[in-house]
Amino acid sequence: MDVNKETLSLGAMEKITSLAKRRGFIFQGSEIYGGYQGFWDYGPLGTELKKNIKNEWWKSMVYGREDVVGLDAAIIMSPVVWDKSGHLKNFVEPLIECKTCHKRFKADDEASVQRHEKEHGGKGNWTEPKTFNNLTEVLLGTTEPKEKAYLRGEITQGVFVNFKNVTDSTRVKIPFGIAQIGKAFRNEITPGNFTFRSREFEQMELEYFVKPDEKRSKESFEDWKEIRKKWYEDLGIDGKKLRFHDHEPDKRAHYARYATDLEYDAPFGWSEFEGIHHRGDFDLGNHGLKYTDPETGEEYTPWVIETSGGVDRALLFFLIDSYFEDPSAGSGQVARVILKLHPRLAPYKVAVFPLLKNKLELVEKAREIYKTLKKDLNVVWDDRGNIGKRYFAQDEIGTPWCVTVDFESLDDGTVTVRDRDSAKQTRVDIDKLTNFFQTELSK
Ligand code: ATP
Repeated sequence: MDVNKETLSLGAMEKITSLAKRRGFIFQGSEIYGGYQGFWDYGPLGTELKKNIKNEWWKSMVYGREDVVGLDAAIIMSPVVWDKSGHLKNFVEPLIECKTCHKRFKADDEASVQRHEKEHGGKGNWTEPKTFNNLTEVLLGTTEPKEKAYLRGEITQGVFVNFKNVTDSTRVKIPFGIAQIGKAFRNEITPGNFTFRSREFEQMELEYFVKPDEKRSKESFEDWKEIRKKWYEDLGIDGKKLRFHDHEPDKRAHYARYATDLEYDAPFGWSEFEGIHHRGDFDLGNHGLKYTDPETGEEYTPWVIETSGGVDRALLFFLIDSYFEDPSAGSGQVARVILKLHPRLAPYKVAVFPLLKNKLELVEKAREIYKTLKKDLNVVWDDRGNIGKRYFAQDEIGTPWCVTVDFESLDDGTVTVRDRDSAKQTRVDIDKLTNFFQTELSK
C-alpha cells in the first residue's frame, strides 16, 4: 500500500504522528505533565530535519541571490509596532462558544463547527461571535503595574521597523529583499492537526521591496509564486499535491492588496503551506518609512511582495509527502516504512555498519570510515541486529545511503553503498566515499 496515493485519510496522520514520536522527530510539548495544547518539541531527528529545511530556504532565498540580505529581529518589540501595523485592531478572529459544553471555535471554521454539531446530535447552540485577538500578551518589568507587550504574531514587522537600518548599513537598492527566519506566536482558538496549527511556530519569510508600479509589482508577485512553488517541488514535494488558492478581496488579511496561498493536499484536506502577499505600501506607510533612490534622489514608499512560509508546516508536509509503505510486506506483517525525504533534508545522510559486529577487523575499518565521513556529513553508526533490520531502521528515518563494511572491503578497499529508494547496491572505493556523497547531495 502506498499511503501517499491511496489513503488520504486520518489514518495516514496517525501513522505520521506515531512515526514522529517513535523515531524522535516530534514530541508533544510538556508531555510528562499531560502535554500543553498547541506546543511541540522537536526531537533529535526533527531538529536536524528542521535545520536542513531552514538551511535550504536560506541557501535559495539569500545566498543564491544578489538582491536579498538577512535579518534576525527581536521577538518582543515595542507595543507601538503592533498598534501601527494594525494588529491590535485587525489581528482578530470571530470566536463562538458551544453553550452546551463550552468548547470554543473559530466561527468561520465551518468544518470544525459542523463536526462539533454532529457530536451534539446535529444541533448547534452557539453564543454570538465575539472578536478575539490572536496576539499573545506578555508582562514585562519589575514594578506594578507591569508593562504589557506582545510576542510577535508574525515575524514580518521586525523587517519593516528595520527597513531604514538595513538600507543605511548595506548597499541594497530597490528592488531588494530582506529575509528572516524566526519564531512567531499566535493565541490560536483551535490548535490542531498535529503541528499544522500551533501556538508557537517558526516562519521563514521574505519581504521584497519594489517601486510602486501596478504592472511591475504584479509581475514580481507572480514570479515569487512560481519561485516558491518550485522550491518545494525541487525538494521532492509532489507537484500534483500543490495548488494556489487566491484570496477573494473580502477574505484577504488587513494588509494585502493581492494574496494567494500555496496549498498542499494533506490528509486533512487542502491546507496552506505558505502565503504570498502583495502588501502594497501598507506597512512602510504605517511606520512612516520611505526610500530615497541613491541615483535620482527620488523619494517614495516602496511596495512589498511577501512570501511567508511556516517551517513547522513545511516539515509536517515533507514528512507526509515522503511517507511510503513497502507494498511487498505481506498481510499480517509490520509495514515497512520508507521516508523518501530529499537527501539534503534527511536528518542523517549516511549510516555506516560493519557486516558483523563481533569481527574486530570489520568494526575497526567501519569506525575509521564513520569518523572520516563525519567530518563533512551527519553520519550515524549502527551495529545492532542484522543488516536487514538496520536497513529497515534507516529507511524509516529517511537516511538516503547505508555503507556496509564486509570482508571484501579489507581486501580491495571498497564498500557496499545501498540506496534507500531503489535498494540498489554499488561498490565504491573507500577513499572516494566523501566525494561520492557530496556529488549526490549537490544534485
Ligand atoms: P491560517 O489561515 O492557516 O491561519 P494564515 O493565513 O493566518 O494561516 P499567515 O499569517 O499568512 O497564515 O502566516 C504565514 C505562514 O505562517 C502560514 O502559511 C503558515 O505556514 C505559518 N503559520 C501561520 N499560523 C500558523 C500556526 N498557527 N501554526 C503553524 N504555522 C502557522
